[in-house]
Amino acid sequence: MSELTRKIVFLICFVTIYAIRFYFARQVKQNKITDNRKTIQETFLLSLTVVGMFILPLIGIFTPWLKFAAYNLPSWTGWLGVVVFSLAIWLFWRSHTDLSLNWSASLQIRENHSLVQTGVYQYIRHPMYAAFWLWGIAQILLLHNWIYGLSYIISFLPMYFLRISQEEQMMIDTFGEQYRDYMTHTGRVIPKLYQERLESEE
Ligand code: SAH
Repeated sequence: MSELTRKIVFLICFVTIYAIRFYFARQVKQNKITDNRKTIQETFLLSLTVVGMFILPLIGIFTPWLKFAAYNLPSWTGWLGVVVFSLAIWLFWRSHTDLSLNWSASLQIRENHSLVQTGVYQYIRHPMYAAFWLWGIAQILLLHNWIYGLSYIISFLPMYFLRISQEEQMMIDTFGEQYRDYMTHTGRVIPKLYQERLESEE
């Protein structure tokens, strides 16, 4: 796959995923926030992800400034990138649909917030973050550059590890035993298939 094709494919997927985000962000506006745990640390980490997920790839695609940091991968990895990005888009859309009006970009609880345990949430607790990981991998496969190819994964890493336990604590504070029980039969981003199989054999 040529460099131009990889960049065009990346842009199509990129626009699609941001369109999904804007659509759901508009929908959820009507649902009032009742518990806001957004901290300065989170605002900083969110801004960092905007640089890695949005600004750097666009600079890399539309200007020659970062060309010096290019790397080469075999042509077939471009097709793998398309498959991985498509999966990310599907999972991102699906998790937004399942969360519906319970979704927030930050650590927030909304009015009449309910604990979603259906759809993709019946297998993993963080499908949206799983979609972000897939997007990051697709970016490495499609944009062959040490800076704007890897910028996504690098900017998402601290966000993921610092936020995930805070988010789970917030969910435990809100839903108590219900969330603890949900945690026992779901994985964070990878399904707990092994445990489920053991349970069904009992
Ligand atoms: N971590 C989840 C959701 C990301 S959006 C994922 O990766 O899919 C973050 C917001 O979603 C949190 O602030 C919380 O309010 C809400 N949330 C997370 N898990 C939820 C669940 N199972 N049911 C309802 N709301 C949830």
